[in-house]
Amino acid sequence: MLRQAKLAGAFILAACIFVLEGAPAAHATTKLPDPAKAGVAEKLFRLDCGRSLANDESVWTPGANAGRSIEFSSTCWLVKHGDEWLLWDTGVPEEAFNDPKGWSTLPKLIVYHLDKTLTDQFAEINLKPGDITRVAISHTHGDHIGNVRLFPSARVMMQRAEYQWIYSPNGPNDNVNQLMALARKLLGTPKNLQLVDGDTDVFGDGSVMLVSTPGHTPGSQSLLVHLKNAGFIILSGDVVHLEGNFEKNIVPSLNTNSPESIASMEKIRQLMAKYKAKLFINHDKKQSNKLKLLPAYYD
Ligand SMILES: [Zn+2]
Repeated sequence: MLRQAKLAGAFILAACIFVLEGAPAAHATTKLPDPAKAGVAEKLFRLDCGRSLANDESVWTPGANAGRSIEFSSTCWLVKHGDEWLLWDTGVPEEAFNDPKGWSTLPKLIVYHLDKTLTDQFAEINLKPGDITRVAISHTHGDHIGNVRLFPSARVMMQRAEYQWIYSPNGPNDNVNQLMALARKLLGTPKNLQLVDGDTDVFGDGSVMLVSTPGHTPGSQSLLVHLKNAGFIILSGDVVHLEGNFEKNIVPSLNTNSPESIASMEKIRQLMAKYKAKLFINHDKKQSNKLKLLPAYYD
């Protein structure tokens, strides 16, 4: 019995190593496309993936707004490309749906609420979780990876630096250590994990690009999507939380690396100029409220 368990353990470990070492090479060194030659995705839907209430805005705007409460949006996006559906971020866990107490990653700081499930929103456009072929995650904070387990057969795409970080030893900031532990728990062990290194062309035609934007976490990324009518759109991940922070280069105190955060915001500005791209900021509720929501879409 024990020997069998050991053998099974060794097999699982070997399988994990194969997935981690074997999968990512294909697109590892792809560069961002020429704007005039980039392919297009067909549709881009915004999903309501929760909202959060924080009691001290100054955590996100150091030096200002101490003790002021703030509400953030949590946003997921669905990209249709040919026969494939890519989900960008997975939001607050569905277990939190309609729970008046909410759900939290850091209970003293922020509480999340979920008013609509991903599954119900998919149903509005006749989709099921099993139709999602790829899940790309901006980073491993709980409000972005809360529902990865709903997609056991999808290819889960993330930066290798992010994966290695959540399995690295604890550092001096206990809040960050707690977030890493929660990330390991929520991410679990996706059977089809693709770790990428830097900017990566998802479909090989320049239509959807993972853009490396570290700083909020060591392997944070954003998504550049090209659509026929709407043009280029950048989905922020957490490279920035609020329009005001982007204008003034303000870095939240929970970010793991401040200079990297500033460099990543600058990279986004350069991409916006090169691609004439709009930036949709995941957690900026004021901005999110003005964007189209599923079943409406950008095309
Ligand atoms: Zn985050």
